[in-house]
Amino acid sequence: MKTAAINAVVVGGLSLILSGVSLGHSVDLSQTQEITITSVALSKDKSELKNLIAEGYDIAGIDYDKGTVDVMTATKDEGVALGFFGFKVKEQKTIDTRLAPDSSYKTPDEIQSFVQNIAAAYPGLVRVESIGKTHENRDIWAVKITDNPEIRERDEPTIFFNSMHHAREVMGPEVAIDTIEYLLANYGSDAEVTRWLNETEVWVIPMLNPDGNNKVWTSNNMWRKNTRQGYGVDINRNYPYAWNTCNGSSGSTSADDYRGPSAGSEPEAQAMMNLVARIQPVFSISYHSYSELVIYPYGCDGQRTETKSVVESIGKDLAALVKKDTGTAGYRPGTAWELLYSVDGGDIDWMYNVHHVIPYVIEINASAQGFQPAYRWRSTTVEKMRPGWKMLFSRLSGSGVRGVVRDSSGRTQPQTMLRVDTMGSGVVEPINWKIKEDGTFHVVLNPGTYKLKFELAGKSVERDVTVGAERIDLDIEM
Ligand SMILES: [Zn+2]
Repeated sequence: MKTAAINAVVVGGLSLILSGVSLGHSVDLSQTQEITITSVALSKDKSELKNLIAEGYDIAGIDYDKGTVDVMTATKDEGVALGFFGFKVKEQKTIDTRLAPDSSYKTPDEIQSFVQNIAAAYPGLVRVESIGKTHENRDIWAVKITDNPEIRERDEPTIFFNSMHHAREVMGPEVAIDTIEYLLANYGSDAEVTRWLNETEVWVIPMLNPDGNNKVWTSNNMWRKNTRQGYGVDINRNYPYAWNTCNGSSGSTSADDYRGPSAGSEPEAQAMMNLVARIQPVFSISYHSYSELVIYPYGCDGQRTETKSVVESIGKDLAALVKKDTGTAGYRPGTAWELLYSVDGGDIDWMYNVHHVIPYVIEINASAQGFQPAYRWRSTTVEKMRPGWKMLFSRLSGSGVRGVVRDSSGRTQPQTMLRVDTMGSGVVEPINWKIKEDGTFHVVLNPGTYKLKFELAGKSVERDVTVGAERIDLDIEM
């Protein structure tokens, strides 16, 4: 969407070029039959990105290798006009938004068939459930993969993957499907996978936004939001932590990053929130595209997590393990405001702040592949993601402390507060938070020496622990 400010400049000098563009008010990209993506050069300070955001342009992605940012406009002329405003235009492509994606990508119906088929094929390892209904009454499917999937095993930490907050990002569900299929196909034969499923509970949402994706297949392949009242809400600007606080979203219903009428208003965000509250994951990956980035919280300019020494170092490890489309080096790690722009109401900020999840966004594929790569990119892309998510499984049994808090009669004590203070090296910031709803705690730490203090109703229990490369399991009686 373009703002009046830049259009006013355009009217002065370039009205011929821009004939046909509705000047002086915003252009709703969802109503156009074409979208042009214009790559403009990015200087080292990324000032172009800030200026484009300030002027209300939609950014499709960024390419740090090429040094370009991709700007979406309703017409080619608007893209060309960027050159007159001082941006250096490198290349342009125009997308006919009426064309369906490559038919090998999954529709909402195909996702539903997929989850039902694997539940039938692996009854001892899979449980499938609908975690909510969309505005158009579609089910949002979640898949649980573990030994004994029908019960919650308290000694098993949870890891969570979700795809497709944004409807046009069709590679995300493929990564989710590959993760599910890889784990199930290798259980019992691959020792590592077998151990992971025996010792971990895995949850996957392959397609969070089936309404939006249906629209991608039927009328607009560049649709991003859900479909609330036709205009839609950007689900990943709708989460209630720091909602609408740092110009990291839009209040305009026509904007691609419209944050919704109120914090947490959308059924897809609610489904995510209810699931996360229930399963309390240790790690999470939300798959998006594109730009070849690993993003960690927080999203607002200048803000970092309280436990950034853990969150950011694991994020950097994750980024280094995921190879680019070119096959070289790793993805680029950082916060959204370091790599792109401020984001508010995103899922990772909410997961970290409210449930102490260590959450990442991975923006898969390079700008050359864009939102909808030719399907031949599918196998190389999903394979490149495997070392990343595998590392998180390994990290669950790595440096950290895990256990259950119970009273003398064995009842779990989920109201317990846990404070972790560093004694010497390790995590510099003290951790002070409530243990999980199921009475467990799982604190991922850097190696070091720590003082753990459990507090409940005036009682406290202290433990000094030296954490090495392996997780320490520690049950506490209050
Ligand atoms: Zn996205």
